[in-house]
Amino acid sequence: EDQRRESLMIVTAFAAKFFHESLLDSDEGKSIGLSYFKERGFSTETIKKFELGYSPDQWEAFTGTAIKEGYQEQFLVESGLSVKRDNGALYDRYRGRVMFPIHSFTGRVIAFGGRTLKKDKNVPKYVNSPESEIYHKSNVLYGLYFAKKAIREEDNCYLVEGYADVLSVHQAGIENVVASSGTSLTAEQIRLIGRFTKNITILYDGDAAGIKASLRGLDMILEEGLNVKVVSFPDGHDPDSYVRLVGTSAFKKHIEETKKDFILYKANLLLKDAGNDPIKKAEIIREIVESIAKIPDSIKASVFIKECSYILQIDERSLLSELNKMRQAKA
Ligand code: ATP
Ligand code: MN
Ligand code: MN
Ligand code: MN
Repeated sequence: EDQRRESLMIVTAFAAKFFHESLLDSDEGKSIGLSYFKERGFSTETIKKFELGYSPDQWEAFTGTAIKEGYQEQFLVESGLSVKRDNGALYDRYRGRVMFPIHSFTGRVIAFGGRTLKKDKNVPKYVNSPESEIYHKSNVLYGLYFAKKAIREEDNCYLVEGYADVLSVHQAGIENVVASSGTSLTAEQIRLIGRFTKNITILYDGDAAGIKASLRGLDMILEEGLNVKVVSFPDGHDPDSYVRLVGTSAFKKHIEETKKDFILYKANLLLKDAGNDPIKKAEIIREIVESIAKIPDSIKASVFIKECSYILQIDERSLLSELNKMRQAKA
């Protein structure tokens, strides 16, 4: 068992080295992959720290090299680096993509995300490693290994959607940042963050999908007993594009000035399309109380009820009775 896991880790580490060297040393890697990363504003330091790479645009560049070096087919396939054809022959899963190795929180490469450089809508933008004995994506946060020290020091973790967001925000000097890349946020991922801090700040994309995901994430974080704040970005922007647009200090300022606790965030968001409609307003109140009902700590919950009563101008007692109804329904 442990031997199999170790074999998978070793072949995955070999792949990370192969992709990284192909980015930095091969003509194709330099002219296509490296120039792409440079255009996106990633520094050499960031590229090296996160071991970014490039997979040659060929069918067997990686697999062929790995076999020649003596790596076993079994582990190439199980790690997802190679794919088996019907006739038994292997080919490379990642071809002509820039590569983001995913590290375990102890710093070993356990999987990859590969981004296409094509604009073609029929090509998936990202291809991620399949689940394996060393990669359970619901338990992994992209960037955690590079962020954990800063998360502890800052006693806060910024949660973003994508690989590029982690890299750009980290490069901007905000190192306490991780992404749930490739999956929607899970309870395991929140518990993983919870080992380092009880405070999470969500920085999701400023589009409909990002807002929806932030509302879901927020409830999950409350359920796990952690504190959550939310920062929004203008529509069409994500943390990566926004930090590149406005620069580091304006980005930090944006976070400090616009971060909202979950009640304010939900209230603002929901009130925007409710106007003065009393029925809609009642629904909003219920939604917010529903979030509050997820908080395990009842003293904390009652503080939030107070705030909610103040923001929405609703009698605190009626909010409390609503809260108790929901708690009873859950129990
Ligand atoms: P970029 O800035 O390079 O375009 P992004 O990170 O902003 O990438 P989004 O479309 O916002 O990309 O997606 C957020 C994250 O979701 C990605 O970083 C990736 O982890 C995951 N993702 C996106 N598209 C896919 C896909 N087709 N298959 C698997 N995972 C995906
Ligand atoms: Mn998005
Ligand atoms: Mn992006
Ligand atoms: Mn994005």
